[in-house]
Amino acid sequence: MDIVSHGLWGALAFGRQSRKSFWLAFGIGLAPDLFSFGILWVAASVGLAHKPDFSHGLPPESSIPPYVHHLYDVTHSFVLFLTVFALVWVIAKRPVWELGAWGLHVLVDIPTHSFAFFPTPFLWPLSDWKFDGWPWSQPAILIPNFTVLLLLYGWFLLQQYRPALKPERVRE
Ligand SMILES: [Zn+2]
Repeated sequence: MDIVSHGLWGALAFGRQSRKSFWLAFGIGLAPDLFSFGILWVAASVGLAHKPDFSHGLPPESSIPPYVHHLYDVTHSFVLFLTVFALVWVIAKRPVWELGAWGLHVLVDIPTHSFAFFPTPFLWPLSDWKFDGWPWSQPAILIPNFTVLLLLYGWFLLQQYRPALKPERVRE
C-alpha cells in the first residue's frame, strides 16, 4: 500500500485515544517504508544514490540497492514485529498498542504487493516464503482504499467534534 495510507490506517486502528497516540501510530505506520525506501529517496535527493525510475512502470528490483532489500526484510517482517511488540510489553510493563500500526502495515502489504516488486517478507528471518498479491497501485485497490479511508475518517472526526454526544471520550 502507499505510505500515506499506511499512516492513516495505523492511526485509525491504534491511535484513537489521544492526539499524541494518533501521531505516534501514524508515524509508526509510515516507519517500515520510511526506513527502507525512504532512506533511498533521501540518499537520491542529496546525490548519494540513483533515484529509481518509476516513469515506465515498476523498475527492476536489481536497480534498487541491496541495503534497501535488507532494510525491507527487517521492517516488513511480521515475526520481528511480534518479537519487538512482546519485548516492549515486557519492558514497559504494558502493551504499547501504537506499535500495532507496524504489524498492520505488514499485514496490509502482504496482499497488496506482487512478485513483480517487493513482495512482503513477513516471515523473515524464519522463511523466505512470500505471497504473490495484487499491486496497490492499480485503481481497483487504490479507489476502494481511499474511499473507505475517507468514510472512516469522516466518522472518526465526527465523533471527535461532537463531545456533547460522547462525554466519555478519552481526553489528552
Ligand atoms: Zn510497506
